[in-house]
Amino acid sequence: MKKKTVATLFAPVLLAAVLCLPLAPSLRGETAAGDNPFFVPYNTPFDTPPFDRIQNAHFLPAVQEGIKRQQAEIDAIVADPKPASFQNTIEALDNTGKFLERVTGVFFSNLEAVTGKELQEIATQVAPLISAHQDNILLNEKLFARVKAVYDRRARLKLSVTQLYLLESDYRQFVRNGALLDEKQKARLRDINRDLSLLKLRFNDNLLAETNSSYIVIDSKDDLAGLPDGVIAEAAGTAESLGLPGKWVFTAQKTSWIPFLQYGRKRDLREGLYACWFMRGDRDNDQDNKAVLQKIINLRAERSHLLGYKNFAQFTLEERMAKTPEAVNSFLARLWQPSLERAKSERAEMQKLIDAEKGNFKLASWDWWYYAEKLRKAKYDLDDSALRPYFELGNVTSGIFTLSEKLYGLKFTANRAVPVYHPEVSVYEVKDADERLLGILYMDFFPRDSKRGGAWTGGFRGSWYEKGRRVLPLVTVTCNFTKPTGDTPSLLSIDEVLTFFHEFGHALNTLMADNRFRTTNAPWDSVELPSQIMEHWTLEPEMLNIYARHYKTGEVIPAALVEKLKASSLFNQGFETVEFLAACILDMAWHTLDSAANVNVDNFESKTMAAFGLIPEILPRYRSTYFAHIMDGYASGYYSYIWAEVLDCDAFEAFKETSLFDRKTAAAFRKYILERLGTEDAMTLYKKFRGREPKIEPLLKKRGLL
Ligand SMILES: [Zn+2]
Repeated sequence: MKKKTVATLFAPVLLAAVLCLPLAPSLRGETAAGDNPFFVPYNTPFDTPPFDRIQNAHFLPAVQEGIKRQQAEIDAIVADPKPASFQNTIEALDNTGKFLERVTGVFFSNLEAVTGKELQEIATQVAPLISAHQDNILLNEKLFARVKAVYDRRARLKLSVTQLYLLESDYRQFVRNGALLDEKQKARLRDINRDLSLLKLRFNDNLLAETNSSYIVIDSKDDLAGLPDGVIAEAAGTAESLGLPGKWVFTAQKTSWIPFLQYGRKRDLREGLYACWFMRGDRDNDQDNKAVLQKIINLRAERSHLLGYKNFAQFTLEERMAKTPEAVNSFLARLWQPSLERAKSERAEMQKLIDAEKGNFKLASWDWWYYAEKLRKAKYDLDDSALRPYFELGNVTSGIFTLSEKLYGLKFTANRAVPVYHPEVSVYEVKDADERLLGILYMDFFPRDSKRGGAWTGGFRGSWYEKGRRVLPLVTVTCNFTKPTGDTPSLLSIDEVLTFFHEFGHALNTLMADNRFRTTNAPWDSVELPSQIMEHWTLEPEMLNIYARHYKTGEVIPAALVEKLKASSLFNQGFETVEFLAACILDMAWHTLDSAANVNVDNFESKTMAAFGLIPEILPRYRSTYFAHIMDGYASGYYSYIWAEVLDCDAFEAFKETSLFDRKTAAAFRKYILERLGTEDAMTLYKKFRGREPKIEPLLKKRGLL
């Protein structure tokens, strides 16, 4: 199913959707420190950000101050006359930058969840400042000399596993950021980093603008034939908000786009809306992303060469569980053939249906959802709108809370005193089995123009130990779920339910993390394990009995429906897997290039896909010009989702082997994965949990590809 981006808590790579515009004059004025809430104690419950007092104008001066303070903290480490030790260098470094993080945690979160022109303009100032600041740290020769001095003596220092992991991660980070380069090379690296940070903003901003302006307007009721009432109502609401009362608007947002493709009977309209999605960033207009992408690919390649790597993928994968591009490519190849074969037989089945209906046309990419839905109905008599009433958002939320309690003993209590960044946000205190407060959870469910698409987990603060006391993490779960309309509450699609379980897994990971240090370093291809394993509970009958109740009657989802649902989980898996793998392949193809200078983006894409024999009825899940994942840590890492799926399928087997809510297995998963991921080698941790390396078979079985 759809997997969503995980947001690392404070990484500036999170920047999204920003125009490269000069700063508006009104934002230039320095705000006096006195009325800037970032400069004074928050005096809020759990030291949560005082959103009621934070204004956009506070961000820039606070970021500047944060940078100044961290620089001073680092100068002090460097000026220490004592020889470098783990404590006075590595641990001291881990302690720097708290003020900056306090600001950026809020800023980057708001930039994604409640963005606007003003915030985007500030981001164009903030992004290069932070990028330059990070360079100043990572290219600080005296600081690196101290880190290296500790690193070179590491074998004799009697460090704990966690300390050693932190030291090695730090050292590698310096080296990978150019610490061993000469002056001229370092200067070039700085330029590349600055350009990349701005280009990524540009890419995401173009994408947001394209998504917001990509829609079809329908003014005749006939054209709505086949669509469920809820979908029509939402489309009317969208039209209303666009100043088109009495019409219906369908957009490139998935909550609008997918139902239209699934149910809309008018083939030409499906084609039109489909193009709204897949042409984003490829319209040769002001928001075109082709040249932006090329520049990004080129700069990444140049950067990798400078650091002594063959290409960007090799550079990136060194730090992943997969380790090399070859390992990723052969992993993808192993999955590709059986998936493609399955997709072809799905295609044949749909064509048969079209022919039986005397459709007299060949299946096209914009028909796939429509005929898949028809086949699903015919084979499993399941339609999305019959399922949705059993997945009311409130019920799903309590179901997820109950699952967390059954597995880990967690308790969730709403807290209305915590300030929020938008009135739709709800806040919970999360307590452990022994009543100890674990963290604060913010949940923000519905789409709005100021929010980027998709679903993600982030936060305003991570957790670590401060003078022996654990700092409470502040975690956010942000989604774009189906809105309530009129008397109907928010009724989720299965896809949305899975997304919610998924994101909640990320949230549990952050809430339960037991990090000694602030710096953590989980390989990207392991971070989806905690989230994806949660999806396995979603459709288990025992779990459905707990939460899948009809929102009107309270009746538990009928067993027969559950059976069909289970059976249908293998349905369309060829398409799902191929669509996903094609995007992985595209990602790897871009990032193993030497240079993209003379590449025509569209040709490159089709050539790459042709080499793998991708059928024309399927496009990669993301085409290059709107592949937002590869703007951040998923660059040459989109495969991570399915890599992690090997882990989560294998890990979930441990529950299947005992029981669905087995506390002992849950305790081991918590101890070795949820609490420690990012503070020790991921494969070692996994083996401690499972007693062996992960097996690939449970994944193939789950997808019906074995
Ligand atoms: Zn995720």
